[in-house]
Amino acid sequence: MREFLDTVGVEIDESDEPTMIRAKRWRAALYDAGFAGLGYEARHGGHGTDPDKMRIWAEESRGSVPGVEATFGIGVGMAMPTIRDYGTDELKDRFLKPGLSGEEVWCQLYSEPEAGSDLASLRTTAILDGDEWIVNGQKVWTSGAQHSQMAILLARTDPEAPKHKGITMLILPMEQPGVEVRPLVQMTGVAEFNEVFMTDARIPKSWVVGEVNGGWRTAVALLGHERVQTGTASVGDATEVKTKTGRKPLPFHHLKDLAERKGRLDDALVRQDLAVVYTGEKLMGWLGQRKLSPSIGKLWRTRQGRFAADLAGKLAFGSGAAYDPADEDLEYWNYHILNCRGMSLGGGTDEIQRNTLGERVLGLPREPR
Ligand SMILES: Cc1cc2nc3c(=O)[nH]c(=O)nc-3n(C[C@H](O)[C@H](O)[C@H](O)COP(=O)(O)OP(=O)(O)OC[C@H]3O[C@@H](n4cnc5c(N)ncnc54)[C@H](O)[C@@H]3O)c2cc1C
Repeated sequence: MREFLDTVGVEIDESDEPTMIRAKRWRAALYDAGFAGLGYEARHGGHGTDPDKMRIWAEESRGSVPGVEATFGIGVGMAMPTIRDYGTDELKDRFLKPGLSGEEVWCQLYSEPEAGSDLASLRTTAILDGDEWIVNGQKVWTSGAQHSQMAILLARTDPEAPKHKGITMLILPMEQPGVEVRPLVQMTGVAEFNEVFMTDARIPKSWVVGEVNGGWRTAVALLGHERVQTGTASVGDATEVKTKTGRKPLPFHHLKDLAERKGRLDDALVRQDLAVVYTGEKLMGWLGQRKLSPSIGKLWRTRQGRFAADLAGKLAFGSGAAYDPADEDLEYWNYHILNCRGMSLGGGTDEIQRNTLGERVLGLPREPR
């Protein structure tokens, strides 16, 4: 495992091929090496569930996978485990291998203009018509939709039922005439996420994950995986390569280098901030090894991301926000300073994580709804 990460992983991280090509090459190599599908039964295209092998992979790979793995955050990190745990054998046979090996990239069609934190208010409909579901509606903030072949979709299948009870989780093929993807440009200047419009889009009848009208249960299960994915799982960086992708907190070693180049390593206040970043990075790694509520990991990561970015801001842009965009180093810091804010929203906002911790973990009284 270590040899694979040190050779194939590092080569892919350092290659200057386009991101999607590197991403697909990485996952295919990982699959061929027998590490992509640990935790998934071999009869459904996985690499088995040997607990020792899974634990060793988790330890060896932490902080050592190429940045392009972020392309599969939704597919491998969220959709695959939900299909494994709640899908029929037909769905497992159809989707697990192409998802784990990177042939199919996935996106998540949850949020809508009127349904963010209050996700159960979603209005997109799916109506069964013979052998197909016909889908109409709009989603928003869909990360990676422009690269995706498949989507996990939440749609209302019973408009008469109470709002949590009339939702179904479906698998939507993205490359069809009824699906239109329109990019949304963020303040980083990059369009990572999109609006997705569905007009009479079609889904085979059997592509339901879990029960028809029982989608809230599977939706919450997937959100649990998302909080792990966007939480402690995302700490650290494989190499010295500075990428403007992903939403990981800036790594300690990049900030230490920056402080050194700016001649600030002897500044007591800078040293103190660097120590906080280092400690946070270590703590997140350890938190990731404990069975805690995923909301804790997600809150820690967003805090770490903002703190590390604020330090980068103080070190790199000492005299103000203006800079020459031809300066690639400053572009890197600028990108992460702007981008880290989104971590507090995607996958459920900080306030929603605190509500979840208060109500479900600490057992405090529920807030009025
Ligand atoms: C980088 C990024 C990537 C994303 N990717 C995806 C994706 O791939 N797929 C997808 O479906 N969605 C995605 N999202 C959307 C994300 O899930 C939503 O932005 C999030 O759930 C919040 O919804 P909202 O934006 O409608 O804000 P709102 O729900 O309108 O919230 C506005 C504010 O009110 C607060 N608030 C709301 N309800 C409560 C409450 N009950 N108690 C306390 N405070 C509350 C919130 O914390 C927030 O500060 C992404 C978002 C970001 C930023």
